[in-house]
Amino acid sequence: SDARLSDYEKISVLGHGNGGTVYKVRHRRSAQPLALKLFAAGDPSAAREAEILKLAADAPHVVRLHAVIPSASAGEAPAALALELMPGGSLAGLLRRLGRPMAERPIAAVARQALLGLAALHALRVVHRDLKPSNLLVGAGGEVKIADFGAGKVLRRRLDPCASYVGTAAYMSPERFDPEAYSGDYDPYAADVWSLGVAILELYLGHFPLLPEGQRPDWAALMCAICFGEAPEPPAAASEEFRDFVARCLEKKAGQRASVAELLEHPFVAGRDAAGAQQALAALVAEAEQGDL
Ligand code: ADP
Ligand code: MG
Repeated sequence: SDARLSDYEKISVLGHGNGGTVYKVRHRRSAQPLALKLFAAGDPSAAREAEILKLAADAPHVVRLHAVIPSASAGEAPAALALELMPGGSLAGLLRRLGRPMAERPIAAVARQALLGLAALHALRVVHRDLKPSNLLVGAGGEVKIADFGAGKVLRRRLDPCASYVGTAAYMSPERFDPEAYSGDYDPYAADVWSLGVAILELYLGHFPLLPEGQRPDWAALMCAICFGEAPEPPAAASEEFRDFVARCLEKKAGQRASVAELLEHPFVAGRDAAGAQQALAALVAEAEQGDL
């Protein structure tokens, strides 16, 4: 028997995005708290997201799918997805609630776990195409999971080009704006590494790194900054490891950018106590929760 919306009781709103609204709910029968992502009627990203989450059901650091709730009319896109609840919310929300940038230690926990998630996804030939702080979710223990596969794609061949403008322009790599200029070294997986680099730097700076603080991110300004500007970098006060890690993600030429496997070996994530870094992230989640009370 299919899951139905009436199986869940709404508790609160967790977030809004392009697609629809995400609610904190309780599964009535099991009393389990979950996240319910409700889509606009007929939204094609619902089916895409469900397909990828099923494919990645065993992947570490990817949010778990509990149930697909079909729409009332047969043949239409799913109405909603019931997801594992991540109590820390998104990293965008965490940054906002903290009201200050994050230190390198908790950022290393984000980087390491996001890379492990990406490694598993890429092994399944899934590209995310919309990595950013609002699509990275945190657990109470500092666990990080990749979410929101509304722009994701399963590549049929390993190097299928996928330069279409899905995802959020702000986090798109140069080769996705201008595939021709970079056609010699096109690698769809490298675009996720760029986006991760932008997101990581955003956590350190406390604001979106590619535009001056406060500037409205319109399409033209973004494309100029991404394609014609220098890649942004952490300030001189940051550690050498962190500066190098970000530089390896934000290599403008996709062919020269570090791979996920290389980044997992990088001293910024590999050379550090992983459990301690995750605890530092958990402490930030606890602090943000205190601020909410
Ligand atoms: P959209 O496709 O609309 O961007 P997302 O899947 O990114 O939807 O969800 C929007 C927001 O809802 C996220 O940024 C996050 O704040 C919140 N959210 C989504 N899924 C969960 C979850 N499983 N647990 C907790 N919060 C979530
Ligand atoms: Mg999102």
